[in-house]
Amino acid sequence: MKILVAVKRVLDYNVKARVKTDGSGVDLANQKLSMNPFDEIACEEAVRLKEAGVASEVIAVSCGPAGCQETLRSALAIGADRGVLVETDAVLEPLAVAKLMKHVAQKEGAQMAIFGKQAIDDDAGQAGQMFAGLLGWGQATFASKVSVEGSSVLVTREIDGGLEHLRLKLPVVITTDLRLNEPRFITLPNIMKAKKKPLEVVKAADLDLDLAPRTTTLRVDEPAARKSGIKVADVAELVRRLKEEAKVF
Ligand code: AMP
Repeated sequence: MKILVAVKRVLDYNVKARVKTDGSGVDLANQKLSMNPFDEIACEEAVRLKEAGVASEVIAVSCGPAGCQETLRSALAIGADRGVLVETDAVLEPLAVAKLMKHVAQKEGAQMAIFGKQAIDDDAGQAGQMFAGLLGWGQATFASKVSVEGSSVLVTREIDGGLEHLRLKLPVVITTDLRLNEPRFITLPNIMKAKKKPLEVVKAADLDLDLAPRTTTLRVDEPAARKSGIKVADVAELVRRLKEEAKVF
């Protein structure tokens, strides 16, 4: 079984996002970009399934500009066998990503695709679900445990107030929750090995797909600045201020 892993290059989660001065979006110039954290979990899970003898090959796929090759190399260092970059400089909405991933999944004959539950830049949480819809595959979102038994996939999902256990027939789409696994530390020898693994580049423009955005971002605002706090002398003053100024009573 071939597993496809969707890997998005996003602003590193440690970097504070800065809005462009014209409010048209987040400024990515000269910022550290890394693999979306939920996609690291997706890679780790796919590689574990390969190590367990369940998967024959793990293919990491990223859609975006040439710089995504660096992110794909990280996926290869985690243990993916090869990478595919669907290259475009255009803005991709989740539907466009789902269409591009569908193309790769069909070309590769993949039986499983693992997406992150959401990309930490657009927070859309849509690409995996749309991919499942386009292909008619079963989907288990926000997975916290995955195992494969023959042609069945068993998935546990954390839901409000408990755990939900699902059985799906291959082919399936899984989206990863935070607690699915803890991605391994990428070692230097594995970074070196990753440099030699195959990485194919496909031009999105050659695929004859409608990737046009369906939405327009009107404006992006910085969060409102927090007011500075104050120190009160004693409990009596705290209660008085809460009553008279904050009007909480
Ligand atoms: P989103 O729907 O944008 O929140 O993204 C959900 C998941 O879809 C991400 O965690 C990735 O696994 C995948 N994904 C989104 N955008 C891309 C992209 N440009 N390239 C590859 N995978 C992507």
